Amino acid sequence: MARIELKDIAHRYDADAPYALAPLSVTWEHGRRYAVLGPSGCGKTTMLNIMSGIIAPSEGEVLFDGAPVTGLRTAERNIAQVFQFPVIYATMTVRENLAFPLLCRNAESAVVKRKVGEVAELLGLESVLERVANRLTADQKQLISLGRGLVRDDVAAILMDEPLTVIDPDLKWKLRRKLKQINEQYSLTLIYVTHDQNEAMTFADEIAVMNEGRIVQTGGAPELFENPGTEFIGYFIGTPPMNMYPCAVVGAASVMVGSQRLDLSFPIPAGGGEYKIGIRPEYVRLRSCPGANRVRGRVLRVEDFGNYKLVSGTIEGVATKFKIRRDSGIALGEVDLFLLSGKLKLFCDGVLVAGQR
Ligand code: ATP
Repeated sequence: MARIELKDIAHRYDADAPYALAPLSVTWEHGRRYAVLGPSGCGKTTMLNIMSGIIAPSEGEVLFDGAPVTGLRTAERNIAQVFQFPVIYATMTVRENLAFPLLCRNAESAVVKRKVGEVAELLGLESVLERVANRLTADQKQLISLGRGLVRDDVAAILMDEPLTVIDPDLKWKLRRKLKQINEQYSLTLIYVTHDQNEAMTFADEIAVMNEGRIVQTGGAPELFENPGTEFIGYFIGTPPMNMYPCAVVGAASVMVGSQRLDLSFPIPAGGGEYKIGIRPEYVRLRSCPGANRVRGRVLRVEDFGNYKLVSGTIEGVATKFKIRRDSGIALGEVDLFLLSGKLKLFCDGVLVAGQR
């Protein structure tokens, strides 16, 4: 088991380059399943490679179970790594691939046989042990990659960088389920880098969302959905993203969006800045309900997704999307809309300041 701690870690690829990873401290608790989620170039891989030892950080310290490992090479850290593309010896059999890391460490043949058997069983590779790796499917190759990391006795954490990118969509769930099973069965810390919010949400206990070299929020899927700490999270998590309206504060708990007033169910904290009010597409209704704010909107397009309809339009000229039941009818043009007051979020200068639940 491993508790991985990044202490005041930061990284620049060149002394005069901007931070690829801005100074941060974060702890990954042992046995938990984490996803690191963020757009391309936000520093996910840099952070993962610092944990694994592929990159030596420009600043700060990496600790495994309290012991400093910053100066140790990848091979000296007790981790398994899985990359976007499977790392295997294509011309070797599956058995030879799995045995290789142990043979490199001069393990006895009985130990090699036992460990290869154990890992093959765990990953469901027993029936293909004697086959040449090259002949296998992409998900099986990725399992071999994983297996090569797991054969060692001392593995405490699995670090994965977009491991399902090359896998067929219908095989992805199989591999994801296998990873969950390994995490539960062996209490291995699992850190999974992805830019796909669905992958992160369905896989992890906790998601660290990154943007521009920083971890901007950490939490479970419901927390990130209901309480996005910044406008960025409101946009980045959820499909479609949160609707955001520039607004002016006009009372202790009221704002104006254009010419329309919204009464909030929470007080607005003192302070000033650029305000926006946000609401998820899931919390806009066509019918009045207790405590909802009525606004006038305009419907421009309705798309039927089978299990729901997606409505695109505007409120006070601001692009707005919301979901309605598949059997609901809605005409194009002017319409009354109802925003659930308890679901409104107030942001000031990009940061959530009121409306947390
Ligand atoms: P992606 O999802 O596209 O892989 P990422 O979130 O993993 O992106 P990183 O690969 O960590 O992001 O990159 C963070 C920043 O560091 C980016 O601006 C990138 O251009 C820069 N960068 C990454 N690797 C290097 C390198 N070897 N040399 C110089 N700059 C680099």
